[in-house]
Order: sequence, then C-alpha cells, then structure tokens
Amino acid sequence: MGNLIALLQSFFNPTRKLDVLIVGLENAGKTTLVNTLMNPNSSYMDTTPTIKFDMKIFTRDNVVLKILDMGGQERFREDWPEYAAVSEAIIYVVDSADRDRIKRAGEELHNLLEWKQCEKKPLLVLLNKTDIPNHMTATEAHQALKLNKIDSNPLVCMPVTATNLASTITVLDWLKQHSK
Ligand code: GDP
Repeated sequence: MGNLIALLQSFFNPTRKLDVLIVGLENAGKTTLVNTLMNPNSSYMDTTPTIKFDMKIFTRDNVVLKILDMGGQERFREDWPEYAAVSEAIIYVVDSADRDRIKRAGEELHNLLEWKQCEKKPLLVLLNKTDIPNHMTATEAHQALKLNKIDSNPLVCMPVTATNLASTITVLDWLKQHSK
C-alpha cells in the first residue's frame, strides 16, 4: 500500500533536480543557509565534506537539490569558476551587516561573473543577516555591490535571515523555479 502511495505521489509530482553553487566571502552565512534549507522537512540523502567545499544532496518539496557550498576564504576563490561550470544556478551570499567588507564582496562577485562558466546562469544574490540591527538596506547593498552593472546573468536579489526557516522560503521558491 505504501509503495502504491509513493508511486502515485511520484506520478502526480515528478521529481525535479537542480545543481546549485553557493559562494560568497567567508562568514557570509552560506553553510547556515544550506543547513536551514536542509532541515526540517527535507529527506537527507548524502554529504561529502572536504576542505574546499561541502556537497549536500537532499530533497525538499519533491526537488532534489545538489548544493556545493564553496569555501569563501581567499585561497579557495580561484576555484569558484571551476565549480560554477558544473552548476546550473549560482547563489551569492552577502553579509549585509558587514559594511567593512561589502565592497570586497561586490568585487568578488563581479570577478566570478567574468568567467565564461558563469555566463547566463541564474544568479540569486542574498543579502543575509537582516536580523542584525543596522544591516544595510537593499538600496545601499545594491549600490555597494554594483548590481546594476550585471547584465550577463538573470539576477534576483533578496534580503534573507539564513538562521530563520521562514525567511528561507523565498530562496526555496527560487530554487524550485529553476529546477528541471
Ligand atoms: P560561511 O562561512 O559563509 O559558511 O558562514 P557560516 O554559515 O559559517 O556563518 C558564519 C556566522 O554567521 C555563524 O556564526 C552563523 O551563525 C552566523 N549567521 C549566519 N547567518 C546568519 C543570520 O542570518 N543572522 C545572524 N545573526 N547570524 C547569522
């Protein structure tokens, strides 16, 4: 009976997939975001931790998400394009409360997008840590990151609090929208 129900569910709700690259400076909140997206209500499938990146594969709302959480430290940034090549979409996480490093975050984003491997891939820029008082407004962050100069990728930018499950629903919607 259980098998029949699962079969019917998969028939009416076929599984979709998306390979995503999550990048950003260290401490931006990438790992926190992935952990929040994974729990609860996700069926955990696999994880492959390495020094350079963490790969997590899990299912949420019938979408299999394979997420590469890349190390943000300077020594790992040159590897970002290589992993972008095998990803279908890119999430760039920014600490919107870190005014000292917002310019650097913008520079690294623009450096990444210069690579052919990233061209035309859907890009989600997340202004994270909006629960911290005095975080940058969306307008301030847009200007500091020079998002208006990005025309190589379909871009969506949204504020988020990665520690808060409810706040990540919009991220999940974006992921579902780009899954195939
Ligand atoms: P990563 O280096 O980009 O993977 O960053 P982490 O996910 O390890 O997060 C770095 C720090 O920021 C940790 O102490 C997190 O708990 C914290 N953090 C992440 N997201 C948020 C958020 O939305 N709000 C707040 N206040 N702290 C956050």
